[in-house]
Amino acid sequence: MNPPRIAFLGLGIMGGGMARRLLGAGFAVTVYNRNRAKSEALAAAGARVAATAREAAVAADIVFCMVADDAASRAMWLGADGALVGAPRGALVVDCSTLTVGWVQELAEAAAVRGVEFVDAPVTGSKNQAAAGELNFLVGGSGAALEKIRPALNAMGRSVTHLGPTGSGALLKLINNFMAGVHVAAMAEAFAWMERTGLDRAQALAFLSESAVGSPVTKTVAARMGAADFTPNFFLKLMAKDLGYAVGEAAKSGQTLTTAATALARFRAAVAAGHGEKDMAAVVEAARADR
Ligand code: NAP
Repeated sequence: MNPPRIAFLGLGIMGGGMARRLLGAGFAVTVYNRNRAKSEALAAAGARVAATAREAAVAADIVFCMVADDAASRAMWLGADGALVGAPRGALVVDCSTLTVGWVQELAEAAAVRGVEFVDAPVTGSKNQAAAGELNFLVGGSGAALEKIRPALNAMGRSVTHLGPTGSGALLKLINNFMAGVHVAAMAEAFAWMERTGLDRAQALAFLSESAVGSPVTKTVAARMGAADFTPNFFLKLMAKDLGYAVGEAAKSGQTLTTAATALARFRAAVAAGHGEKDMAAVVEAARADR
């Protein structure tokens, strides 16, 4: 059987690395990105460049999407030149972006109406893991659809967890990033607090990193805070988006996320202060601004 032809929509920090992994594994990949310059960069690696999401999807067996948020995903799939207009009947459409469960379910229904099956497959891991094919996929959708996309997921990731029906992957991803956002906000406040004291910061951070509170994400952002290196791996504005989505999603189940709400306030303050286009570690600037 021929390998599936793939369309990849959205070539940002994550999507660019993921599409490269698919090309490296030998898949035929057609790419589309709103800002065409990012597509051209992939052309040099062997991708065919489409002028619209619709055009990218026309001859695809599997269409992947990796964009910023619900609005971007809606534009990619359901816009006038969106991929659902172009995708052939029987194709599989997969969104790997971090999205609300409500939008994912609406998208799955729109896909079904057009005779294509939808899978939500958001990821954990960041820029480096996307480039190295070491992402972890959180999958919602049918087992049969998952088996068809699994070879492509294996080219981009090191683990695939099938959580259940449509929306299950999106839901666990929001739970994951709720906790990640709280960890990062707590690290930012601890960091800014230490700066106001006589503690030896390097010694204190070394201790915290090896203690029970040294989660992988707190270690990563503490290193960036210490080096004042806010080169984007994960845009701060996107963590604010994820925390907002998590608060809204939990509320639908009757669950209040008080810790997410206060973390979100920190991230929103950082965005308002002009740090949204920096790495999420720059949330420390919002904590530093306290008086
Ligand atoms: P990014 O570098 O900012 O890329 C965002 C992508 O979305 C770009 O391709 C951008 O196109 C596109 N986009 C934004 N608004 C659009 C619109 N209205 N219409 C069409 N395209 C639009 O972000 P990223 O880090 O790759 O993140 C992508 C997704 O992965 C997000 O949902 C994020 O939460 C999730 N995620 C990120 C990480 C991470 O560590 N970075 C980890 C796990 C999950 P342009 O190039 O034209 O702007």
